[in-house]
Amino acid sequence: MVRKSQPQGRPELRVLILSDIHSNLEALESVLEDAEARGGFAQIWSLGDLVGYGPDPAACLDLLARYDHQAVAGNHDLASIGKLSLEAFNPHAAAANRWTASQLTEEHAEYLGGLPLKLEIDEFTVVHGSPRDPIWEYVVSEPAAVASFYHLDTERCLLGHSHVPFICEPRENGVAFLEFALDSPVSLGDDHLLINPGSVGQPRDGDPTASYAVFDADAEQLYHHRVAYDIPATQAKMRRHELPQPLIDRLAEGR
Ligand code: ZN
Repeated sequence: MVRKSQPQGRPELRVLILSDIHSNLEALESVLEDAEARGGFAQIWSLGDLVGYGPDPAACLDLLARYDHQAVAGNHDLASIGKLSLEAFNPHAAAANRWTASQLTEEHAEYLGGLPLKLEIDEFTVVHGSPRDPIWEYVVSEPAAVASFYHLDTERCLLGHSHVPFICEPRENGVAFLEFALDSPVSLGDDHLLINPGSVGQPRDGDPTASYAVFDADAEQLYHHRVAYDIPATQAKMRRHELPQPLIDRLAEGR
């Protein structure tokens, strides 16, 4: 399944960019299948929150481990292994994190505990929240975006955390948040950009389908894709594990 083409010594020809998988195996499998059908990928970059909220933390970690991938830690990843206090989470998220902790092996915990907060790969900085605060900061406002550009040592930054896809570029008097249009290439020049691929496992932009991005290193282009997955199957598992009802409901609403 994993392609390993490496022309001119480039480590990745096409990179699958995933964020906020949140233990949603149906969504992750659908994204992997969809990305494979759209031309495949050599590597995966994960922007954090692999676990938390959803019903399949162990299976998602095991599936990702089968791929050549690089990943950073998200707030839920650290909370589920006790490296971040649950007091900072709302009651539903905290309850899901406690349940997640009970599902992880020592090996899983070691993997999550070893994830870096920030990666720099070529011209990309990879974080969960923001370059200024990789764990907690939501880049959803102009001040946060301005600060993100200020704290960036690379041209581009891939980030997640808000579960809302966007592209953000600096303007003379601030920044502009642009729609990350579906299925059409975004050409990357020397411009500074913040890119959020949206969430695989718990989208919050009103569209419940799984959201992800692909970086075509050869063409220097980015793509945003969405794919439907079996939401009722994920919800049924969450009910079985008695995960909080609002977390179950929100999957179908995409909020
Ligand atoms: Zn998240």
